[in-house]
Amino acid sequence: MGIIGEFLAGRDGAARRHGEIAVGSMSSGMAVALPYVAVRGARPGKTLWLHGQVHGDEINGMVAALRFAARLDSQSMQGNVVVTPTGNPHALDSRRKRNPYDDLDLDQCYPGNPRGLISERLAHALMNEIRGTADWLINLHTMNALFDSKPYAVYKLHPDSGVSEAGLLRAIALFEPHVACRMDVGGKGELPGNIAGALDYQCLAAGIPAFMLELGGGSRYEAANVALAERGFERLAIQMGILEGAVDAARKVRRVTRRGWVTFDRGGLFVPQVQAGDTVSVGAALGTSMDIHGNALEEICVPGDGIVIGLRRDPVVHTGERAAFVGYEWDSFDLA
Ligand SMILES: [Zn+2]
Repeated sequence: MGIIGEFLAGRDGAARRHGEIAVGSMSSGMAVALPYVAVRGARPGKTLWLHGQVHGDEINGMVAALRFAARLDSQSMQGNVVVTPTGNPHALDSRRKRNPYDDLDLDQCYPGNPRGLISERLAHALMNEIRGTADWLINLHTMNALFDSKPYAVYKLHPDSGVSEAGLLRAIALFEPHVACRMDVGGKGELPGNIAGALDYQCLAAGIPAFMLELGGGSRYEAANVALAERGFERLAIQMGILEGAVDAARKVRRVTRRGWVTFDRGGLFVPQVQAGDTVSVGAALGTSMDIHGNALEEICVPGDGIVIGLRRDPVVHTGERAAFVGYEWDSFDLA
């Protein structure tokens, strides 16, 4: 058990603690550590774990989790809430997605390695705290700063987790996401990389229900998305018995089972004609691009009927860069 689990297991009643999980040090002597906030309820119960970011330029989730924890009243809680605001402190401080010292994608590094590169060590230190302590974990993300999106969820299924798809979707529905995307761990339709190294997937492997919540775009504060996340955290804490109250849960969630990226063939300036969240028909234009002299270059079309999950907001584009993230197969999943 890690230091957070030991604190929560203490039987001295309601308490709040913040501190750091030691990971290593820099050449300057500056500590490498993972900050945390742990709120222990007056009575023992379940533990909701909110992980603010694995990618350093994704801010809304971290802000929402810290605001939620700050207004909790531990005296009235039965169970605990833990916030680890960042799993990637070097990346946060340098306003970039990846750790600048090894350039790894941290969400492809879990469960980590205590003798590995710095991202692998950070991953290991976090998993060591979560395992055996968390009863639910939310892995908070956004798209990068070049994109807009409505809040959505991403979840994976693990054969040994004991966590059902309906169980995950019932929790996801508390956040009223635009869509809930079931992600193929094989990586079909996704960016290249080790999808199984995601924090939520490794939590599932450890028997802890977990999913990703995507709260809009990176490198900015988006008030509506932060508020939606805070409402969802509260509802999940109520459903877990940690907070008192009633939850009026949605009966259906829009489930996306196949999605993919649309990319540019030619470099230029992109002008969108739709918005993130729109539903578009096969052949419909997401927008057009022009060259640096203003001549029309290409019309960016979707290869099938789709839901625009994320849309590029930065007009500056090069060959192979992404215009949109589109859901191609979806249904209405009945939670009743
Ligand atoms: Zn991310």
